[in-house]
Amino acid sequence: MISAWESFIEGKEFKLSEDREMVRTLAVGELENMKNKGFKYCPCRITTGDFEKDLNLICPCNFLVQKTWKEYGECWCGLFVKR
Ligand code: SF4
Repeated sequence: MISAWESFIEGKEFKLSEDREMVRTLAVGELENMKNKGFKYCPCRITTGDFEKDLNLICPCNFLVQKTWKEYGECWCGLFVKR
């Protein structure tokens, strides 16, 4: 999971959080969602049960439009942060 994220950030305006313990915790959360819910849903948001709505919660989400990105330069979970 973390390797996939590291590939995802290559050449982008964001990187993974420097807090490696948090990154590992979020990776475990996503893998648990994959196992229990079938998709790598965001580990810090709650799925609704509505498949169409929950598609927006598959990680990585479109966090560049999120308020947290605009205000703090990070995704909702703090996994991806501005370089
Ligand atoms: S808020 Fe961050 S951790 Fe959650 S789905 Fe979006 S990119 Fe992934």
